[in-house]
Amino acid sequence: MSDAASGPTTSDAARLRHPEKRNRPDNPIRRKPDWIRVKAPTSREYHEVRKLMRTLNLNTVCEEAACPNIGECWAKKHATVMIMGDTCTRACAFCNVATGRPLPLDPMEPANVAIAVGGMGLHHVVTTPVDRGDFAGGGAAHVSERLRRTRAAAPAGTIEILTPDFKDRPGAVKTLATEPPDVFNHNLETVPRLYPAIRPGARYFTSLQLLAEMKRRLPSLFTKSGIMVGLGETREEVGQVMDDLRAADVDFLTIGQYLQPTPKHAAIDRFVPPPEFEEYAQLARGKGFLLVASSPLTRSSYHAGEDFARLRAAREAQLAAA
Ligand code: SF4
Repeated sequence: MSDAASGPTTSDAARLRHPEKRNRPDNPIRRKPDWIRVKAPTSREYHEVRKLMRTLNLNTVCEEAACPNIGECWAKKHATVMIMGDTCTRACAFCNVATGRPLPLDPMEPANVAIAVGGMGLHHVVTTPVDRGDFAGGGAAHVSERLRRTRAAAPAGTIEILTPDFKDRPGAVKTLATEPPDVFNHNLETVPRLYPAIRPGARYFTSLQLLAEMKRRLPSLFTKSGIMVGLGETREEVGQVMDDLRAADVDFLTIGQYLQPTPKHAAIDRFVPPPEFEEYAQLARGKGFLLVASSPLTRSSYHAGEDFARLRAAREAQLAAA
C-alpha cells in the first residue's frame, strides 16, 4: 500500500530503474480484477499538474510509482512530491522508485516545492523524502529544513510527511521532531514474517520504534502508518500488526492492495476482494485507531487532505467525550 506500490512497467525498464534487481527471474504480472481498474488520466488539471512538475524539475511518487490513482488525485490537484531527489538508496521488493546512487541535492528543490504548493493551491501538502543512506543521519536534517521552508511558504496549510525509517541513524528522530509536520507517516508496509522478502533492508521493530518515538516526543502529532495486503499475509498477522501499531499509539491506519510494478518486483499472492478490506477496516476501528482507510486502491496519500480533516474531527470528538 505504500505510495510506491503500483502499476506495471516493462522488464527492460525495470532493469534500468532497479539495477540491483536485473538478475532476478521475471514474475509475470497478473491481470487486475475489475475492482482495481481505473481510467487513464485525461483531465485538464492532470496535464496542468504534470506541466508544473516538469517546469519545476520536481518528481512525484504518483508518477514514479505509476500510482493507479493519479487521474483522480491530479484532477483534484493533489500530488505527493518527492524531496531529496528521485533515487532511493534502499531496494525494497515492492517499490518502483528508482534505486541507485543518488545525485547531489538540488539547491532549488525547496523553493520549487514551495512554488508547486502555491501553483496547485494546496491546503494539505504531502511530501516524501527518498531514503538517503548516503547522508549522515539518513538525511533527517535535510528533511527538517525542507519542512521548515514548506511551512514558511504555506503558513496556513498543513503538512504531511511520509518518511523512510532512518535505520541505524542515531539522532534522526530528535532532528525530525525539531520541525514537526502535522501528520507523520511511516509505513510498516507488510507483516514482520514477510520483511526478509519484501523489505529486506528494513527491520519491523525499527519502523515501529520510529512511530512510537515520534509520538512520545510530540504527543499531539498525528501519526499514520500503512500496509499492503495481497503479499501472502494472514488475517491473524494483519491483526497483530494493528495491535503493534496501537501499542505505538499510531492514530491512522491505511490498508491497500499491493500491485506489482514490474516483472522484477515481488509477485502478487492474491487480489484481496473489497469485502475483506471492509472487514479489516472494522477490525482496525475496533482496536482503537482514530481513522482507518482500507480499500483496494488506498495508498498512503490517497485523499490525504480530506482524511486530515477527519483525523482532526475524530480527535476533537474523542477529547470532548473524555
Ligand atoms: S494516491 Fe498518492 S501517490 Fe497516488 S496519485 Fe494520489 S497523491 Fe499521488
